[in-house]
Amino acid sequence: MPTDGRDPHLPPSPETALAAAGRRPEWTHGIVSPPVYRASTVVYASVAEMEAAARAPDVRLYYGRRGTPTQWALAEALTALEPGAAGTLLFPSGVAALATAILAVCRPGSHILLPDSAYEPTASFVLGFARDHGIAADVYDPLLDAEGIARLFCPETALLLLESPGSMTFEVQDVPGLAAAARAAGVTTLLDNSWAASWVFKGIPAGCDMVMQSLTKYVGGHSDLLMGAVSATPALLPQLRRTAHALGQCVSADDAALALRGYRTLGVRLARHAASALAVARWLAEQPLVTRVLHPALPSCPGHARFLRDFTGSSGLFAFELAVDGPDIAARFCDPMHHFRLGYSWGGFESLIVPARPHRRLAPPPAGARFRVSIGLEDPADLIADLAAALDRVSPPASA
Ligand SMILES: *Cc1c(COP(=O)(O)O)cnc(C)c1O
Repeated sequence: MPTDGRDPHLPPSPETALAAAGRRPEWTHGIVSPPVYRASTVVYASVAEMEAAARAPDVRLYYGRRGTPTQWALAEALTALEPGAAGTLLFPSGVAALATAILAVCRPGSHILLPDSAYEPTASFVLGFARDHGIAADVYDPLLDAEGIARLFCPETALLLLESPGSMTFEVQDVPGLAAAARAAGVTTLLDNSWAASWVFKGIPAGCDMVMQSLTKYVGGHSDLLMGAVSATPALLPQLRRTAHALGQCVSADDAALALRGYRTLGVRLARHAASALAVARWLAEQPLVTRVLHPALPSCPGHARFLRDFTGSSGLFAFELAVDGPDIAARFCDPMHHFRLGYSWGGFESLIVPARPHRRLAPPPAGARFRVSIGLEDPADLIADLAAALDRVSPPASA
């Protein structure tokens, strides 16, 4: 039995796959990372060659919108994160990825089930744009189990949306159970897996048909690009690709190269984000002014048992609630901070904070002030000091 490392003939471990995925010699020509091929037009030597390119499957130079080896390498690398996926489509933002995947399976008359914990632009798309186009939708409690969700299916239900943990409120869903119930009913599932980055949770092996992530977050990792991806099973990939092409969805080679650079370090960065976030979350949980920490790895988070069952790790995004509230609490807490900067998005190397006011249709609003933090790659001791000072600023004066 070998004791000095893995058998090189075994499938590579995930960390090793991160270093190797997408590096086909015919795309890189021996260079470690694929060159940035900026392209709209491809020219052909003959009409026959031109016609063959038009008929070829995706990974063949045809016209810029279908990509070049730069985009293909990124897409192939992302497919490697979701075992069982047949391929990955790239989109200019996470929102474009979600909208396209939804339109790939819904027609006028279709019905969508949307978790109450969905990212707000997802909810707006489903309850606004999609409804305006004749697609019905109902909002469901994200903590429902498989039996509960099955009761909500109707003959028109075409799509079950999943997002775990939920945006701002961090409920962990029973993704394997809900996906199995949907598959049994002939309902397609689309998981927003941005929090886990398809690294600490994998949606296709859990039974989902399409798995989306905002590459803007952890794959990009440096707050300098917007991009989204959807990986799909062999059954769903053709219609997803058709819809993406019909809507003209594509990304620039420059951004694809940046995203691929982020991809190579996803494992080490996420491990650090996760460790620091847990340290900060555990510290917050001990502060008297903090009533609840919504971090999936802590028992105070709804769905924590599912997190323990399904996830192999965590990431750097969570929320917490305070015992105090008021119109000026957010400004007093956040404005003077040193290391946490006020800003939307997350997943970058820099820590961010936002006052979190989740817009929920089923759940009541939280009682106290709530903040969402994205823990970056700074020393967690500095982040804790920043939060300690912020808690001091909003603590009620001690009574004499
Ligand atoms: C940010 C985000 C998106 C959208 O991604 P963009 O790349 O910003 O369009 C989708 N889902 C979740 C959960 C997000 O946090």
